[in-house]
Amino acid sequence: MIHEQVIIGIDIGTTSTKAVVFGECGRVLASYAVDYPIIQPHPGFAEQDPEELFAAVIQAVGAVTIRHRIRPEQVKAIGLSAAMHSIMALDESGRPLTRLLIWADNRSVAQAERLLKENDGLDIYRRTGTPIHPMSPLPKLLWLKEKQPDVFRQARWFVSVKDYVLYRLYGDYIADHSLASATGLFRLDTLDWDEDVLSFLGISRERLPRLVPATYVLQGMKKEWADKMGVSADVPVVIGASDGVLANIGVGAVLPGEAAITIGTSGAVRTIAAAPTTDEKGRTFCYALTPGYWVVGGPTNNGGILLRWLRDEFGAQEREVAKKLGIDPYDLLTKYAERVAPGAEGLVFLPFLSGERAPYWNANARGTFFGLGLHHRREHLIRAVMEGVCFSIVSVALAIRDVTGPMTEIRVSGGFAKSPFWRQMLSDMLGKPLIVPQTHEASALGAAAVALHALGELPSLEMVKTWMDTTARHEPKEEHTLIYAELFDLYSRLYERLKEEFDIIAAFQRQGG
Ligand code: ADP
Repeated sequence: MIHEQVIIGIDIGTTSTKAVVFGECGRVLASYAVDYPIIQPHPGFAEQDPEELFAAVIQAVGAVTIRHRIRPEQVKAIGLSAAMHSIMALDESGRPLTRLLIWADNRSVAQAERLLKENDGLDIYRRTGTPIHPMSPLPKLLWLKEKQPDVFRQARWFVSVKDYVLYRLYGDYIADHSLASATGLFRLDTLDWDEDVLSFLGISRERLPRLVPATYVLQGMKKEWADKMGVSADVPVVIGASDGVLANIGVGAVLPGEAAITIGTSGAVRTIAAAPTTDEKGRTFCYALTPGYWVVGGPTNNGGILLRWLRDEFGAQEREVAKKLGIDPYDLLTKYAERVAPGAEGLVFLPFLSGERAPYWNANARGTFFGLGLHHRREHLIRAVMEGVCFSIVSVALAIRDVTGPMTEIRVSGGFAKSPFWRQMLSDMLGKPLIVPQTHEASALGAAAVALHALGELPSLEMVKTWMDTTARHEPKEEHTLIYAELFDLYSRLYERLKEEFDIIAAFQRQGG
């Protein structure tokens, strides 16, 4: 049973919605997650049922308040976080006309390519901060207009997952600046919908939610839902931001120049900027955080999923040994890699097994081992793959540095951070110290912090840093940094030289070759 005053952070993610109960100083007191599937009606499509996601929000909060007997008057506020880039159409009475199209949906590849080539996509990116890519709502809306014109015409509203949940809770159509800034329809300089993009799409601003900052407070929730969640209808609900930018706050990277690197299944580098900043070459994104703060960063497709691929496809032996020893197969794989020197005795790996987003934004890029010799054993390949993941992170970090200047502090998180060896490798490659904060549910914590800030109870988001311990710190080893600098140049050159060949092999694959 929880007796103290709490803040609830709700994180509406891709695989689940989590309700996390925080006490004083961001202490996690309880949490509850409700999972849901991604629906793939056709190859490349990725949809979710909005009803299921809304039900998950109600259920997650309801379960956590009931299980821990949290009374409505104990809940000081609720803060919201949601996955970026989702979009769906609603009719006049707010009924869904489509499922939710999520970031992983690639149906609009052709629309994105056309936007880039024919419609001055780079210019749209510079105004909106969102790279022109099928992940974002702009090409998805164009797809809808072209492929399902009846639905597009009938649609009274186009909303994201969070806008939909808020509509169900409050009957009002509103969107926070942060999620809006990841749609490709929002101008960073005016914090408003981009009239040029809207007229290109043929939609008026009346079909989009009203825009508010992350610190906007809603009250007067429909009683039915408040009762089901076990909270008061008058509990302040702070609209918050997107999961990506809130995760920065949640790991303590909150001031301009401070960066968060996350490597889970995929990876991302994000740094805080004091003003909206985009890249001449279109390599990085820029999304709004809280008033006056922006997040400049880049996502990579190829993070921990590569080690998972090695483990699952080639690691039967390791999996068996690890089982006998009662240890995690990842720990065994990384132990093998540790036996090999930096550079894996002349083996460089380009990790683009799932194409690549930042900094190259090239869906046709593919994985490549370069320099393979008979002297290479499995541990060399494991090490080269781990190094390849770090090279891709470094390439994103360098693009961000070009845009925002040097990073002053770097905090790392995600599944990769479980490995001290992999963290040290990244520190060596970046030539920078890394901090490993003790974090849990970073996006929900970020949402809770913004909620407290909006209520005036947390004067500065910087104070979040004092809420978390540092579990480790890594200093770069200079001799390794020098080796990696040379190999990183080779890595970049290999990418440039192979760019056109990647198109050929990808086309070959698509034709079923
Ligand atoms: P998700 O993106 O699904 O949240 P996680 O943050 O759990 O992913 O990270 C999963 C990835 O983290 C794995 O694919 C693996 O590459 C890496 N990982 C997990 N545990 C370890 C470990 N003990 N050592 C090295 N890497 C690990």
